[in-house]
Amino acid sequence: MLIDTHCHIANIEYDADREEVIQRAIKAGIGKMIVVGTDSLTSQRGVALSEKYPFLFATVGLHPHEAEEMNPQLLLELEKLSLHPKVVAIGETGLDFYYNHAKPEKQREAFWMQITLAQKRRLPLVIHTRDAWEDTFVLLEKADRAYLKEVGSVFHCFTGDKAAALRGTGLGISISFSGIVTFPKTATLQEAAACMDSRFLLIETDAPFLSPQGFRGKRNEPSYIVTTAEKIAALRNCSFEEVAETTSANANRVFRLL
Ligand SMILES: [Zn+2]
Repeated sequence: MLIDTHCHIANIEYDADREEVIQRAIKAGIGKMIVVGTDSLTSQRGVALSEKYPFLFATVGLHPHEAEEMNPQLLLELEKLSLHPKVVAIGETGLDFYYNHAKPEKQREAFWMQITLAQKRRLPLVIHTRDAWEDTFVLLEKADRAYLKEVGSVFHCFTGDKAAALRGTGLGISISFSGIVTFPKTATLQEAAACMDSRFLLIETDAPFLSPQGFRGKRNEPSYIVTTAEKIAALRNCSFEEVAETTSANANRVFRLL
């Protein structure tokens, strides 16, 4: 069994054929999927979708691109949603200084508010970070260390190097690899995937984005995670089954999937 720890299948991109997408994932051996929210609407839609299927779980949060929308009411709304039994994490949140769709100060503020919420709810964080490693670590290192160690969190769609992976796992943060690791010319990322501590290794699709090699240019979907798992197995010189077993056990532990 594989677990897709990060997909956006509650989004409108799947409104026409969501059921087929889910059935293809089951057929491909995906046993559980985590449906990630990026704002108020997608968080609500993810929670609603998770109620319909026992193998779907949800996260609630505000993406750094939307950080300007953060305010105390929205935070309260996210907190209320997070009380739902199928909600397994806060996010995706984090910092994106590559696109800077929201002002960096607003991104830091929204990220910090969600770190505080995750600590309060004892839920892991799903962290998006792009061109913002130093700032991301500054905020995470300000968080309650005991919380991070005990509850854990995730760097989703990891694009860092060995050093960033090590700094993250040192704080108790797991590292989730997407289809990017299957792309050519990603030697630094592949090196991180090859040598990182297996106890913190996770996989995801980030569907509908970032289809793995062989599906590039198409809408991504959870069934394509098989390609990413095969690539990780090749990089780590181990079997596909071992990657499946390790990453699923880690996902069950970090997200406390029932
Ligand atoms: Zn995402």
